Amino acid sequence: MSLLQVKDIHTYYGDSHALQGVSLQLQAGETVCLLGRNGAGKSTTLRSIMGLTPPRRGQVLFDNQRISGLPAWRIARLGLGLVPEDRRIFRGLTVRENLQISAYRRPGSTRTWTLERIFDEYPMLAELANQDGATLSGGQQQMLAVARSLMSQPRLLLLDEPNEGLAPVIVQQIGALLDTLAQTTTILFTDQSVHFALRHAQRAYILEKGRVVHQAESRDLAGDTETQQRYLSV
Ligand code: ATP
Repeated sequence: MSLLQVKDIHTYYGDSHALQGVSLQLQAGETVCLLGRNGAGKSTTLRSIMGLTPPRRGQVLFDNQRISGLPAWRIARLGLGLVPEDRRIFRGLTVRENLQISAYRRPGSTRTWTLERIFDEYPMLAELANQDGATLSGGQQQMLAVARSLMSQPRLLLLDEPNEGLAPVIVQQIGALLDTLAQTTTILFTDQSVHFALRHAQRAYILEKGRVVHQAESRDLAGDTETQQRYLSV
């Protein structure tokens, strides 16, 4: 059964028609990538799902419940977590405080991600616990941003370009983190490069000019250089 259904959504910035009928679906347990060049509409799709830039037309269903039209904070409380492209680490708060401030347990759910567990599984964050979040490197901030979203026990994690601006060695660590999370959480992430996507997602959708122009299993897309060149190469 689909955990997330995005049905023909149209999203605008003022008069600018950014998403022109985007549809996609995620089954519970899947890891799916949204690919596309700069400005294709990847961030807007995640923001539309999350209710930050609500679609004017179309529907978003989460666990068969309509969430489009709800305010973002209510969507978050239903179990969706967004890690935005700019990470939004709270300046002036320590790593520990950044994590604590996001702790939330949905009624009826047993809390699985606690501060202790995060520090246990990501010792790097434990070592940085008392540092101001703003002083962290880009890679450390990305780890913190993902860990922070886990503190709200998401059933669906939305990650906007988790690798942006990061060195290859850090990208590898983010990939490993994604693989671990994928064992227990459903994930939709965006990327501009096909390589990371093919390694860490089972399926991919390709966006261009606010429309889904292609969808494929990762293993099929890997060998489809024509599609890659057409929609993804710069
Ligand atoms: P990127 O990799 O650059 O983040 P993207 O695929 O995530 O690209 P979006 O950021 O979703 O693309 O942008 C989709 C379209 O909406 C683009 O044409 C972009 O210029 C426009 N857009 C995005 N944010 C805004 C905004 N705040 N105001 C006006 N237009 C916007």
